[in-house]
Amino acid sequence: MTPTQATPRAPDDTGMAHLGQIIAVASGKGGVGKSTVSTNLALALSAQGAAVGLVDADLYGPSVPGMLGIETGKSPSMSPSGKVMPAQAHGIKVISMGMLTDDDKPAILRGPMVSKYLRMFILEVDWGTLDYLILDLPPGTGDTQLTLAQSFPLTGSVIVSTPQDVSLKIARRGIRMMEQVKVPILGIIENMSGFTCPSCGEVTHIFHHGGGAKIAESLGVPFLGAIPLDPAIVDCGDEGRPLVIAHPDAPAAAVYRDIAAILSGRVSATAGIPTPFDWHWADDASKPNPAPQPGHAGGAAEILVGLDRRDGRTLVLRWQDGHDQQIDMRDLRLACRCAACVDEMSGRAVLDPATVPLNIVPIRIWSLGNYAIGVSFSDGHQSGIYTFGHLRGMVAAEVEDV
Ligand code: ADP
Repeated sequence: MTPTQATPRAPDDTGMAHLGQIIAVASGKGGVGKSTVSTNLALALSAQGAAVGLVDADLYGPSVPGMLGIETGKSPSMSPSGKVMPAQAHGIKVISMGMLTDDDKPAILRGPMVSKYLRMFILEVDWGTLDYLILDLPPGTGDTQLTLAQSFPLTGSVIVSTPQDVSLKIARRGIRMMEQVKVPILGIIENMSGFTCPSCGEVTHIFHHGGGAKIAESLGVPFLGAIPLDPAIVDCGDEGRPLVIAHPDAPAAAVYRDIAAILSGRVSATAGIPTPFDWHWADDASKPNPAPQPGHAGGAAEILVGLDRRDGRTLVLRWQDGHDQQIDMRDLRLACRCAACVDEMSGRAVLDPATVPLNIVPIRIWSLGNYAIGVSFSDGHQSGIYTFGHLRGMVAAEVEDV
């Protein structure tokens, strides 16, 4: 993964340049996984080398301290300059209503107080110099969101939704609100998108699949990715060690990292390969993009802009940064990380390479959101999910150019 580079800000007169890019994570309704997404994205950006702060702006129901194992109910210490010291957790800085004692917080928060606390969390905390400040907004499209959007120079917002129609409709409303207050939409994330079977790794779509991508397309905003429903995410949240830290190999952790990579490179980037597609390898039917888009220097390393077939057994991946990667089909099959091929607990390979035919070819290659591809092979295997991050990392397996 390439190191994160925050887009340099124009010199501003807001006095907030030290906060880096301010990204709001919003959702139309509660319980869609917004705080989980905020927390894992903040950690994934930090893992790329960025300095990251996280504001738990959900003043009424702060859940971030629990997810990060931060002690609550203790007055935070003050810096010599009289600012509030944020908590530190897994390398990121965090502030939340949950970190204040009951003496510090009012029993009821009225409108003006909400904005007073939010201003305090952003302006009166000793953040140091950040690349990103992630704001985990409370659910809904009310006062808090408007206050934030109007008071701070937000780089943009990310909308989290689940695949059910009702949730998608509400997400659409959230997008409209952000647009009205002129906050750019960085993209939509579909959470709890399909169920990852803990024993075979296969993803089953319990709800409609692809609703987030369709809404994104219809509103002309980017689709950032689909995070599978994974019971480990709940356990991690309860234990204070988010998935990207506790289970970095889980498919959902790879999606969080891919979304972080898109966000860090994408604020000005164009969208990648058009989805959905279902490409039949043998007769080349439904190939996603007959004319792959050109890559360019300065493009993101993990945005796939084109797919091609060099010969009967070599897949060509064209990345936004201009790199053309060639992968032999057998190497692709051997790199499968599904639970049938890699032991989930130990990470040891279960697949015996001797059982994979030398002449293996794909039958179909299809899109999974815009973060991964699925492949069915001629040996009958079809449960692998190859995220763009994983594919891009397959350097050793690349075919030498001839
Ligand atoms: P919100 O901030 O939108 O209210 P939370 O982030 O608190 O939602 O998540 C609500 C619940 O859903 C939590 O128990 C969390 O662990 C769980 N959750 C979030 N995302 C996923 C996922 N992809 N798979 C399984 N559980 C999830």
